[in-house]
Amino acid sequence: MRSLRFITSPVKVKSLKSREHVPIFYPEVVLCVEIYHKKNSSLKTQEFLVLGSQTLDELRDNIYCLTDKLMETAGQSDPSGYFLIEDTFYNDLRNSPSIDYSKPIFDWLKNAKNEAAEKWEYIMSGELKKKQKELLGDLDIANLPSFKAVHMHKLDLLTCDFRLGAGYLYCTQGNCKHIIVIRDVRMIHSEDVQNQSDYPLLTFQLRPRQQKCSVCKIYHATKMTVDDKWSPKNPCYFCIKCYFLLHYKEDNSLLYPHAVFDYFHE
Ligand SMILES: [Zn+2]
Ligand SMILES: [Zn+2]
Repeated sequence: MRSLRFITSPVKVKSLKSREHVPIFYPEVVLCVEIYHKKNSSLKTQEFLVLGSQTLDELRDNIYCLTDKLMETAGQSDPSGYFLIEDTFYNDLRNSPSIDYSKPIFDWLKNAKNEAAEKWEYIMSGELKKKQKELLGDLDIANLPSFKAVHMHKLDLLTCDFRLGAGYLYCTQGNCKHIIVIRDVRMIHSEDVQNQSDYPLLTFQLRPRQQKCSVCKIYHATKMTVDDKWSPKNPCYFCIKCYFLLHYKEDNSLLYPHAVFDYFHE
């Protein structure tokens, strides 16, 4: 009940990003998509309303991931990524340095058939198999699925095969993995936002937890040191003022060598 109220209530809408008005073409379908934290797969970080006519890359461009942000800050961001939905890899190959993340997986499936089949059998045995049988009835789940790969910007969401409520994989920056869930699908109605360019529409955003400076305990931390010999904790968090006061001399030269990173939030 909570979920249904959530996706039909227009008051949950938090951000309307565009000024340009692009009319909705009827009939249109709205999907409610949830994104989960990379480490804690039960912690929802974002929720979107996405139009059935939109593609997965449009959703991807709106997913917030701390690893993406850190890699961008370091100037080492990799535009590659994929969604694994049922047996299909939807690869992001829009930008020229992108690589096909699914290729080594397909190579492994081809070159180590027995190992892959063994792993699949192991995954499908026990509790999970029982649950799948309950859900899918007599469907054949014993054999390794024949995976395929497509470009995520070439297919709209409604042409993807998916099951409501199932957890699928979103992978970015090589190995940062999030679970995504398509929670609900319904027709668009008059109370929905009627501007196509406002979708994917963010309806929930988890407020990130941010460490305070370990020294002044007043300001939010923006620097984090690791194995810092003079700091009380490891890792240790500093606001920019305390960090420079404790690590640099008045003439801006370094007091002692240490490893430091930009810190955003947990
Ligand atoms: Zn991530
Ligand atoms: Zn401070």
